[in-house]
Amino acid sequence: MAFWGNKQQEDEQGGQQQPGGSALTGTLEEGYNELLQAKGRSPGIDLAIKLSDLILEHAVRERASDVHLESQGANLRVRFRVDGILQDMLATPKNAEIPLTQRIRVLAGFDPEPPASFRNEEGRFQKMLSGRAIQVRVSSFPTVNGEKLVLRVMDRQQLGIDLDQLGLDPETLTVVKKLIRNPYGIFFITGATGSGKTTSLYAMLKNINTPMINIITLEDPVEYRLEGINQAQISAKTGFTWAEGLRSILRQDPNVIMVGEIRDYDTAEISLRSALTGHLLFTTIHTINAASIIERLFEMGVPPFLIGSSMLGAMSQRLVRKVCPQCAQKAAPPSEPMVNEFVKNMDPEEAKLVKELILRPGADYKVEKGCQACRNTGYAGRMGIFELMLMNEEIRKHILDHAPTDVIKRTAIKSGKMRTLLMDGITKARAGSTTLSEIIRVTATMV
Ligand SMILES: [Zn+2]
Repeated sequence: MAFWGNKQQEDEQGGQQQPGGSALTGTLEEGYNELLQAKGRSPGIDLAIKLSDLILEHAVRERASDVHLESQGANLRVRFRVDGILQDMLATPKNAEIPLTQRIRVLAGFDPEPPASFRNEEGRFQKMLSGRAIQVRVSSFPTVNGEKLVLRVMDRQQLGIDLDQLGLDPETLTVVKKLIRNPYGIFFITGATGSGKTTSLYAMLKNINTPMINIITLEDPVEYRLEGINQAQISAKTGFTWAEGLRSILRQDPNVIMVGEIRDYDTAEISLRSALTGHLLFTTIHTINAASIIERLFEMGVPPFLIGSSMLGAMSQRLVRKVCPQCAQKAAPPSEPMVNEFVKNMDPEEAKLVKELILRPGADYKVEKGCQACRNTGYAGRMGIFELMLMNEEIRKHILDHAPTDVIKRTAIKSGKMRTLLMDGITKARAGSTTLSEIIRVTATMV
């Protein structure tokens, strides 16, 4: 154990870093082959340490969010999730002399070998790579082919960005800035896991943070420390639940409360009530778009009047891949029959707006190609697409009538001038930042 444990810590690399990148050259596969050539001269454990570092350095360089280490029978397969998509990085016969999985297991705080009654294990470790402290969360899972390890690489820098950098269009940004300065009410953010909700929440809190107000958060877990903000972590084990945490927070004289997630009636009820009694709340909730938050709250049993009187609005978001600027090609707009086919199942009002937006002249559409810079994916980096629904009298009336999501959504588009996620995405594709196919891929589950 000690042998595994001591070499890994804080081997900070000095000197040769390029700004924003590491001193790595070549691919992971090339690095692996170089390592193999050194075999025989170094003990296997040293090689495993070098290989795990090499994999993590490449993961950081490629901006991977997850590293998958699969021992498939006699083979070792390493895949990275980059910009939301898994990519093969290394596929090679397993080298029995390089105990890579054991090395990762020990870093994560597990025993070098899985226990006999092995189900799954979770751990984490921190490492200095390319001058940055990288947090890695490790999950181990037994498959019929052997142990599978998934390493979540936490990019804390991303969590610290400002509201102006989120990628909201200028008009929406102005509205959001005004909205989050309300003295009371509740604002929801929704989006799939990994859609950047936490980043947006933090950016909003940072934007309104002054010494004159008391901001308290309740999170699971606290992912990033915000200066001047009181952050607390819920813990199901000790009974410090969302609802219990909220009750305690309310006795701490808060102005602004951030509740990491609402998923049960108690938390929803306390949150919405405190939004009515002089507190400003921010929270996330799991739904596919902004309008369906209301139905989700109905399902939890929250009375319509409470929703209608406390809710300021809701933002839904997704991350889309940006087209690679090195190799993107100009593209013609889609033909009208294609667009008709695409919008045929939409609400007529929305279909008309979407069709007009896609076909309006003056677009700078791009199509992905692929080059060395983007590892032949055609894309590099990601950005957010957003929809912002603001509460108004008409929506409030529909809430009191217990109206379904499609009615709420239609009203928000019509009377609230809501631009849907799809419309914001198309606007960004028109500007040439991403492609229409990427927007359709990401929003496909919603139309
Ligand atoms: Zn490219």
